[in-house]
Amino acid sequence: MRTIIEPFKIKVVEPIRMTTRGERLECLRAAGYNVFRLRSEDVIIDLLTDSGTAAMSADQWAGVMRGDEAYAGSRSFYRFEETVRRVFGFEQVIPTHQGRAAERILFSTVCRPGHVVPNNTHFDTTRANIEASGARAVDLPIAEGRIPSLPHPFKGNLDVGALERLIGEVGAARVPLCMLTVTNNAGGGQPVSMANLRAVSQVCRSHGIPLYIDACRFAENAYLIKLREEGYAARSVAEIAREMFSCADGCTFSAKKDGLANIGGFLATNDARLAELERDLLILTEGFPTYGGLAGRDLEAIAIGLEEVLHEDYLQYRLASVRYLGEHVFREGVPIVQPPGGHAIYIDAAAFLPHVPPQELPGQSLVAELYVEAGIRGVEIGTVMFGRTDPETGAEEAASMELVRLAMPRRVYTQSHVDYVVEAVLNVWERRSRIGGFRIEHQAPVLRHFTARFAPLYPFGS
Ligand SMILES: *Cc1c(COP(=O)(O)O)cnc(C)c1O
Repeated sequence: MRTIIEPFKIKVVEPIRMTTRGERLECLRAAGYNVFRLRSEDVIIDLLTDSGTAAMSADQWAGVMRGDEAYAGSRSFYRFEETVRRVFGFEQVIPTHQGRAAERILFSTVCRPGHVVPNNTHFDTTRANIEASGARAVDLPIAEGRIPSLPHPFKGNLDVGALERLIGEVGAARVPLCMLTVTNNAGGGQPVSMANLRAVSQVCRSHGIPLYIDACRFAENAYLIKLREEGYAARSVAEIAREMFSCADGCTFSAKKDGLANIGGFLATNDARLAELERDLLILTEGFPTYGGLAGRDLEAIAIGLEEVLHEDYLQYRLASVRYLGEHVFREGVPIVQPPGGHAIYIDAAAFLPHVPPQELPGQSLVAELYVEAGIRGVEIGTVMFGRTDPETGAEEAASMELVRLAMPRRVYTQSHVDYVVEAVLNVWERRSRIGGFRIEHQAPVLRHFTARFAPLYPFGS
């Protein structure tokens, strides 16, 4: 059979409220043109993020009912811990309410001012938490990773030569850890190869630098290794995942991604002494070490989700639906990051709107247009998210890429939803020459994209 179907039946449905173009224009205006400020009931297809938006399975909901809500020593914690040890291979498992809490605990334990933390590309919360500790976050993607249109099977790879040069320059003593984000979210949802994981691991080990994996999309990365890397076609995704983590000393994880859960995360390591310091911090801000800011039912849902995410029929469908979206818009000329990644399509807004300069926020324009066109909510990953306004001159410092991410929630939308998105993207593509830019009207000093207000520089939506 040629058609890859959704490998599930629908048992519970959530109605979508349909809106008119006029209503959407009004909603967007009221939200300061920032789609983060919209109410979700005013959104038809929500591709803002794949984080915490998965549909849970019947088994996970059954697990929710079985959750043990004991403050200490919850049965659900032990099930969670056993699953994490088996899937990831780390002995010390510290539950947290989401990924960034694991990051904060890790970085505030090991990072100091003057330290440098390399990564293929730091995710926004990762970078912010490293910088909050006084350390510097450095992105070292391979050169191919910076060219959106260039296909490469493992564009998430870290530039090993650049890592060695960085360690040579600053000295290993100032690098408290190195990270690898799988898949590389900020850099296009692109996978990291096993060969690159091994090479980075070797460099780190030779300098005594711990390697941590930002493991949010580990199953999607493992499946892409199976499909694309020589020697892995016959291996199970679970085996490949174990091999990935055997290259590392620990990981941070947001269960809102490949945990197939709506909340949760963890920090894991084999370093018992470090884990003790981390648990002390956990108690201070998250909770007792057998719940870490989560309910027992959440721990159950995550434990079951971590098993389900490794099912290969699920991963095949997942990657097929993302690829389907990418191929259908690319076929009509829409510039996207190639090849499509694991969880999202990234439209190259700089190439989509070449007449809108980075300072006029082309990604923000495209996000606003997609919402007004069809009620689709995507997210800008460009100058709004990663640029900065110079506090003295007020000039916008542009990001290296202007992307719009359309992230697919897990197990939520069907093929006809994806067809609707394709149609909307192509309608906006048709009228791209008449689309103008935006300016920032109000912004917060950090992570400004969440709350900023924008104003269109040209008549909008007419
Ligand atoms: C989502 C994400 C995080 C942070 O996880 P939260 O659960 O949102 O706090 C960290 N790194 C990557 C790559 C992510 O995608």
